[in-house]
Amino acid sequence: MVLDDLGSSLRGTLDKLRGKSRISEEDVEEVVKEIQRSLLSADVDVSLVMELSDSIKTRALEEEPPSGTPARDFVLRIVYEELVDLIGESTDLPLEEQTILLAGLQGSGKTTTSAKMAWWFSTKGLQPAVIQTDTFRPGAYDQAKQMCERAEVDFYGDPDGEDPVQIARDGLEATSDADVHIVDTAGRHALEDDLIAEIEQINDVVQPDTSLLVLDAAIGQGAKDQAQQFDESIGIDGVAITKLDGTAKGGGALTAVDQTDSSIAFLGTGEEVEDVERFEPEGFISRLLG
Ligand code: GDP
Repeated sequence: MVLDDLGSSLRGTLDKLRGKSRISEEDVEEVVKEIQRSLLSADVDVSLVMELSDSIKTRALEEEPPSGTPARDFVLRIVYEELVDLIGESTDLPLEEQTILLAGLQGSGKTTTSAKMAWWFSTKGLQPAVIQTDTFRPGAYDQAKQMCERAEVDFYGDPDGEDPVQIARDGLEATSDADVHIVDTAGRHALEDDLIAEIEQINDVVQPDTSLLVLDAAIGQGAKDQAQQFDESIGIDGVAITKLDGTAKGGGALTAVDQTDSSIAFLGTGEEVEDVERFEPEGFISRLLG
């Protein structure tokens, strides 16, 4: 059965449906309320929660459960399907030659994520290289280099370089042997114009197959503006959510997924290069509802 790993309060509510074959409007209301509570406390945007509640309610009351399906399983199946519909399957990343550009604000976890993704691709038998173009944050070069050494993947950066666009160009040339190029970019504390101008120029040079927005799991409402800005400037194909090993559940990132009409690619679950998972809906949904 889907979603075995639910939070105790939602499980309790669903368990009240055990043994029932018909569901009343009251039952559905109670389940939906519980789901709303979980999702809102996981930072999922209110309007998304409302949209989802409506779809769950409508389906649970209007659809006929397949014969022999207990009410509890029927409702749970609808909840799961509607959440998958909202969140989507993981961002498509074929295991072949490609270039990936990472965007996001400073501290979101871009540099860490670039090395983690490179490590992940290397475990799939590909030869990745990280190109570090962040000339803004002191320490970004050393951090990326060290993580790439730990991941045993190729790395290019220029500790004395001042022009990120040139570094991107040189980096692609210097790592032409690699088959997956992961280009890390500078972040700022906010969405300043120069940040957007810089990433647009890097985007022009790199011509990525996929651009990922890196978001801290603790991001709440701020996700919308960031997603919109980066999507308008370079086009966002997917989201990487970091720091899911903390208390935040990452529901704010769903706003970015919705805003950019994209999906989730990777989840970061720690500070080490191996602390990365490819997104898969079921585990994430269980965590959101937990
Ligand atoms: P950038 O400015 O976007 O490049 O962010 P960094 O990659 O430097 O990450 C900022 C901080 O968050 C660093 O201290 C990282 O070690 C930490 N960090 C990044 N990803 C994760 C994660 O998944 N879990 C935890 N616990 N820390 C992370």
